[in-house]
Amino acid sequence: MNAPLALLAELTHRCPLRCPYCSNPAELTRASAELTTAEWSRVFTEAAALGCLQTHLSGGEPTARRDIVDITAAAHQAGLYTNLITAGVLLDAALLSRLTAAGLDHVQLSVQDADTTNAENIGGMPGAHARKRTAAQLVREAGLPLTINAVVHRQNLHNLQAIIDLARAWGAARLEVAHVQYYGWALANRDALLPTRAQLDEATRIVNAARGELRIDYVVPDYHAHRPKPCMGGWGSRFLAVAPNGDVLPCHAAQSITGMVFPNIRDTSLHDAWHHAPAFNRFRGTAWMPAPCQGCERAEIDWGGCRCQAFALTGDAANTDPACALSPHHAVLADALEKAATNTFRYREFS
Ligand code: SF4
Ligand code: SF4
Repeated sequence: MNAPLALLAELTHRCPLRCPYCSNPAELTRASAELTTAEWSRVFTEAAALGCLQTHLSGGEPTARRDIVDITAAAHQAGLYTNLITAGVLLDAALLSRLTAAGLDHVQLSVQDADTTNAENIGGMPGAHARKRTAAQLVREAGLPLTINAVVHRQNLHNLQAIIDLARAWGAARLEVAHVQYYGWALANRDALLPTRAQLDEATRIVNAARGELRIDYVVPDYHAHRPKPCMGGWGSRFLAVAPNGDVLPCHAAQSITGMVFPNIRDTSLHDAWHHAPAFNRFRGTAWMPAPCQGCERAEIDWGGCRCQAFALTGDAANTDPACALSPHHAVLADALEKAATNTFRYREFS
């Protein structure tokens, strides 16, 4: 069995923004149920022992935690490369200086759009865009490498070239342009977010033209695809996430698969969760696969696609991802594209 390469540490679900595509689960974890600093410290030590090389300190908004500096120090002391994935609106020079001293290696800053009005409508937080610009400047002044993350969809794709220009102007070494993946909040907002085929083709042209001037990672949407992506490089193969309440997950969206029981770090070690938990072993390898994946030449290339998407669109996580044209459920994607007509968001919020 492979060792996981990276640990996604979802430190909290709290966030000042309310993005309608947020990858956090529909049922958000409250602060009172979050892991403590000491528990996170144990997670990092066990992750390093398991073979993880890096951790993404994420959320929600990770800097919403008062102990973010201690958590960063614990990850660094465990020997992990530390990447802060942040909306940037709570970062100031003093906090960044303490994070840098604690061993922070890299910052990924999310932007909702290059246009301030549209960005703040999407993120649901007035004043956020200017704070992000300041955060980018502070990260550069601290000498940390900066990646800009832009989640793209029907409501901001018309500004993609401007987003690329913004990433350059803000001093990013890398830009991640990720089309929305539809589960959780994004699935609830799918009708407002799905791009048209023309938008997708234009976005791909713009990204390809900009490559070379800036390193761009491009994540394409499934709804216009004929074959699925190798989600997470295969379930329980390379990736490990720990949710704010300590649930250990093979993928950050796995809690959307209702009925699956995930191990919790308060009851088990990360080693036992990774190697022995039934939830991790459920979709490893190819033996679990149904037709048409069983025996397909791409079975060990795309691993049957995304289990969360299969569950969201067919009600059974063991089905072939409907993004595959060979899936008997493939038509649900075309139906969704046809019906996507609203421009109104349902914002992320605690229930
Ligand atoms: S996607 Fe938006 S709401 Fe969700 S954690 Fe990131 S900034 Fe916050
Ligand atoms: S049938 Fe399964 S393994 Fe084959 S291409 Fe489709 S999703 Fe991939």
